[in-house]
Amino acid sequence: MKKLSLSIISLLLFLSAGCSLFTSTSDNQKTAGNIAGLSVEEIDKRLSELPPFLTMGDLFNTTVLEPTQLFDNVYFVGYVSVGSFIIKTTDGLILIDAMWTPNDAEAVIIPGMKALGLNPADIKYVVITHGHADHYGAAKYLEEKYAAKILISKADWDFIHSPDAPVLTDPFGNYSTEIPLPNSYIEVKDGQQIQLGNTSITALLTPGHTPGSVSLVIPVTDNGVAHNVALWGGTGLPGTRKSNEAYLESLNRFEEVANIGGVDANISTHPFAHNLISQMEALKKRQPNEANPIITGNAAFREYVDSVLRKNVTDKLATF
Ligand SMILES: [Zn+2]
Repeated sequence: MKKLSLSIISLLLFLSAGCSLFTSTSDNQKTAGNIAGLSVEEIDKRLSELPPFLTMGDLFNTTVLEPTQLFDNVYFVGYVSVGSFIIKTTDGLILIDAMWTPNDAEAVIIPGMKALGLNPADIKYVVITHGHADHYGAAKYLEEKYAAKILISKADWDFIHSPDAPVLTDPFGNYSTEIPLPNSYIEVKDGQQIQLGNTSITALLTPGHTPGSVSLVIPVTDNGVAHNVALWGGTGLPGTRKSNEAYLESLNRFEEVANIGGVDANISTHPFAHNLISQMEALKKRQPNEANPIITGNAAFREYVDSVLRKNVTDKLATF
């Protein structure tokens, strides 16, 4: 009996250690993305300490998606897990979020931009929606290589420097504490218009997911017709009652501002999160007389906020 139990434990250990290695991230991606230069074995050891639902889930899926133009002035580059949007203005480019690592800039963002005919040297601003390392990993790289200005809320600038912030592990075995931080920043303030050339993006401070998450309303055109796109700055629910209350208050405010702005589309820098991958597939097959599949209308935006975001946070608040 004792022997059998030990065998079962060994098997479980083997399976749990083995499972965590079945990620979409190739060994080459792991070593290229690992900042400390760890070996694949050392990286896998770090990854094996994470729950398999995370390492095998969409948030760790580093399959590169085809770089895609979404609107006349908006483009996407990135992984299934997370990516960046690029907003083209008459005075240069605004990047929204900067993926996991400096290597993501070299391996995904920059080649993706070039494939789309965009010049990375034209990046003027990098807007960081919130201070988790899957959103700011390449910020310092872009700051140093292209003199891009990093825009983030003060609360999340402090958060990424805080020794109390949770240490997260990425698909390349980096701890978030190992990700290089930008040298300087421009503070994003509540209600601010982020202005570049002919484009003015509305930014709202929406604390909840992190202390200083920023949500955006982005003006776009599709075949010359104006639309407004909502980008909710951080979806996952925080741990404490207080931060969930803040999340709900932020969400209600953001929805109000987005509705006043006539938002009729909704995007996330996590492409798996709400249909961006299938919408980009549909875009590829779009005929000249067909509607843009990303523009789903204001009612669909309200429905998403109601039945997903607000429902989730309300349900969680009921558990405290
Ligand atoms: Zn986050």
